[in-house]
Amino acid sequence: MTLPPVDEASLVRDRRDLHQHPELGFQETRTATLAAERLQQLGYAVRTKVGRTGVVGVKGDGGRCVLLRADMDALPIEEANDVPYRSRHAGRMHACGHDGHVAIGLEVARRLAATALPGRVKFAFQPAEEISDGAGAMIQDGVLAAPAVDAAFGIHLWNTLPVGTIGVMAGPVMASVDQFEITIVGKGGHAAMPNLTIDPVLAAAHVVTALQSLVSRRREPFEEGVVSVTQLAAGHAFNVIPDRATLRGTVRTFGGRFFEDAPSLVEHTARGIAAAFGAEAKVEFHRLTRPLVNDPSMTEIMKGVAEEIVGKERVLGGIRTMGGEDMSYFLQRVPGCFAFVGSARADGTSSSHHSPTFDIEEAALTIGAELLTRTAVRYLGA
Ligand SMILES: [Zn+2]
Ligand SMILES: [Zn+2]
Repeated sequence: MTLPPVDEASLVRDRRDLHQHPELGFQETRTATLAAERLQQLGYAVRTKVGRTGVVGVKGDGGRCVLLRADMDALPIEEANDVPYRSRHAGRMHACGHDGHVAIGLEVARRLAATALPGRVKFAFQPAEEISDGAGAMIQDGVLAAPAVDAAFGIHLWNTLPVGTIGVMAGPVMASVDQFEITIVGKGGHAAMPNLTIDPVLAAAHVVTALQSLVSRRREPFEEGVVSVTQLAAGHAFNVIPDRATLRGTVRTFGGRFFEDAPSLVEHTARGIAAAFGAEAKVEFHRLTRPLVNDPSMTEIMKGVAEEIVGKERVLGGIRTMGGEDMSYFLQRVPGCFAFVGSARADGTSSSHHSPTFDIEEAALTIGAELLTRTAVRYLGA
């Protein structure tokens, strides 16, 4: 089978156009319209408004169905790059590389439209990855059905890997994301008479410290886990002990016992510590995303393709992150693989994801497009 060559100019053009018009989660109307129009022109059967602003395109009938996913949303960040394709919208920026994912998805769709395939390919242009809701919304709207999806693949442009490398491995590669909020209710009063109060600030300080002991003392040492308290709020005056304090934070795991136990560990710790101070802790715990787990045989397919594209020695195992990714919702339901496509400068000076100076090496777009195109073709057995 011969595939049409990657159109590098069009990939860069698309990515820069999308970069200038970033849209936040579930507001990706311009991006979705662009994706839907392109897919239609290419002859795909298109469904819009799948998961609110999501777009689905299907080609082929009979045989297995492979889903390729591209997330579309940007972040509420003011771009600090001085480039011709800088964001045209104040306070919004493609600072995670999803502009590149959409451009890659469109290029893969173009190449596969021109190719006879022994099966079906389904594109999911997904909204709202950054707020972890988009994949679930698309699944609820039937993206994995009619035709039923047999396998799913995706990529993330990755600025901790130099361009020309690909990170791919079986098993968990991105973490579960939990969010917790703890309100410590005490009794306010005069700062000079603490004995007449129940100080929620002091209790909160102990809760923060005690939560750190979950990773060091309650987690099985061979499991991965992070607990971070990231917000702490209490009081409004230097001489008043407030009546409550709130803390918020996140738990990250790769699954296993610590993942299962985290909600009760956080709750029992907060309540127990607060009680020791005579205060009360109210705990809200939300599971946002599950760990993203790559299927071993699907990983073999994608890894083999990656080795052909960049060479065996430039395909890296062991690339994992405690960041979250709602591609995990797809991979929880169908086998598949999610790979990291290096997009950083070789000298290691590229900014990290979600930073106002984030940018990618655009040569990574071609590698990403090759990887997804050939993975789909190989999976379908063409
Ligand atoms: Zn991101
Ligand atoms: Zn991302």
